[in-house]
Amino acid sequence: MCGIIGIASNKSVSINIINALKKLEYRGYDSAGLATIANGEINEKKCPGRVEKLEKILFQNPSEGNLGIGHVRWATHGVPNEVNAHPHSSEIVSVVHNGIIENSDQLKKDLEKSGKVFKSQTDTEVITVLLTEKLKKLEPLKAVFETLDMLKGSFALGIIFKNYKDFVIGARRGSPLAVGYSNSENYLGSDSYALKSMTNKITYLEDGDVCVLTNNKIDFYNSKNKKINKEILTLSNDKNTAEKGDYKDFMSKEINEQSITAKTCVKEYVDHLRKDINLYNFPINPKDIKKIILIGCGTAYHSCATAKYWFEELTNVSIEIDIASVSYTHLTLPTILLV
Ligand code: GLU
Repeated sequence: MCGIIGIASNKSVSINIINALKKLEYRGYDSAGLATIANGEINEKKCPGRVEKLEKILFQNPSEGNLGIGHVRWATHGVPNEVNAHPHSSEIVSVVHNGIIENSDQLKKDLEKSGKVFKSQTDTEVITVLLTEKLKKLEPLKAVFETLDMLKGSFALGIIFKNYKDFVIGARRGSPLAVGYSNSENYLGSDSYALKSMTNKITYLEDGDVCVLTNNKIDFYNSKNKKINKEILTLSNDKNTAEKGDYKDFMSKEINEQSITAKTCVKEYVDHLRKDINLYNFPINPKDIKKIILIGCGTAYHSCATAKYWFEELTNVSIEIDIASVSYTHLTLPTILLV
């Protein structure tokens, strides 16, 4: 998992990028980086380690620019070092990526055959190289759509272009991506938590969506490059759910809040008046369920094993558990398949 951020503003963006990256560190912290467009150039800074280290680099050598992208990494392809850290930039385009490009090896081989040179070991760099090629003939949005068509796997992307200092392009397939609206400034980010200190007006991208952010407007397109409208949501001001509060870290908070979270989830299905289970909101008829497969990785797999015990204790349905990374590589959360 990684975290991405993008900001289009009418003022310098690097401090806000750093602050948002600090909020995204729960998603990855083996390296961090940012790129802005300043004086007609892509200005990229990155390092292995935490956002604090990147902040120190910026303190000594500030990054100007009203448009930028940032990244915190948790490596899937290539060791955590400066070259593999995001953004991945060419002369004309810079990319941050959360996800996995499954056909990157093949794409890389093809591109290398045609003389392209790769600097990093990452899957992400194929996106930069493909875009760089396509931008020789196409305008940015078209180049992005053509590149996305060639990718297999999952991604949330933030992209800036040397020759276009007014917009950031975002794209989503599989990995989460939200955009936020403010006065003279718009954002994209892996989650609304990272954007919350800057805005409470949010839209979530669906799979296949692409967005183009300037400092005063956001345009959305579906996977067929057709303009679409999206609903703007207002985030609640409930600090308790979004902030760490008195907990040392988010993990302690999550562990301590487990019983409340479980109650909140189950409450939806409890009819207190009839003292029964309310099935109106349940998407399928439970009688049709023949088998339940619980899948997860790591601690989520252990949750599945515990759930198997309880499900079999309380129902007559057969329960299987499976390690998601072996059978269902695209799933990272504990998931229930109803068969
Ligand atoms: N695959 C990319 C890399 O290794 C992004 C990592 C991720 O999103 O977890 O740099």
